[in-house]
Amino acid sequence: MLWDIDHTLIETRGVGFAIYQRAFRASTGHPLQQLAQVAGRTELDIMRETLRINGIEPTSEAVTSLARALTQGYDEARNELASTGRALPGAARTLSLLADQPTVHQGVLTGNLEDVARIKLDVFDLTKYLDLHTSAYGNDHTERADLVKIAQERARTRLNATFSNSHTVLLGDTPNDIHAAISAGVRSIGVATGKSSVEDLKHAGAHGVLPDLGNLATATELIFAVADQS
Ligand SMILES: [Mg+2]
Repeated sequence: MLWDIDHTLIETRGVGFAIYQRAFRASTGHPLQQLAQVAGRTELDIMRETLRINGIEPTSEAVTSLARALTQGYDEARNELASTGRALPGAARTLSLLADQPTVHQGVLTGNLEDVARIKLDVFDLTKYLDLHTSAYGNDHTERADLVKIAQERARTRLNATFSNSHTVLLGDTPNDIHAAISAGVRSIGVATGKSSVEDLKHAGAHGVLPDLGNLATATELIFAVADQS
């Protein structure tokens, strides 16, 4: 199981955007005039486009500097994140139940930078359910679909077990999460707690869609059904 983070497990409720504004100014010396579309994209992709649309050449130095400022920004905003943001209803219970299953191995597949992903999961106390070493992050590759192979390979190396495409499930809130799964040839479940509706996620081609993680029985039943399809 490879979980997306933002709007699937947690939401920052504006704190993420505020951090981006502060980090952009700290790293470039300019105010952030426009942020690239972020939903379902990798941070490498978002940072490059954001620099470009704000008139700054996205050199590797500029991208590295912005990534460092973002990580520092999240680290300094842990209290703000904890008080304003939240884990989505049912996220912790669902992760906890799946973590207890001997046939399930859980990580994240997220557009977030690895250090930022770790901070978000720590702040909302979700890290204990996930193997962050067999996960893939927004600084591993610009293309979300390519993160799937990276996570599978990390899991294979670390656990000495093969995670085939038919036994790999991506869970996310955007059509981009579903498209990444289809492109990588793995299964997917849409969770409609972001901007996309159940219909949007079905239309994108998800194997299954949940309105949210609020109902533990419904969520786990669907997750197991999708994971067991052959
Ligand atoms: Mg998301």
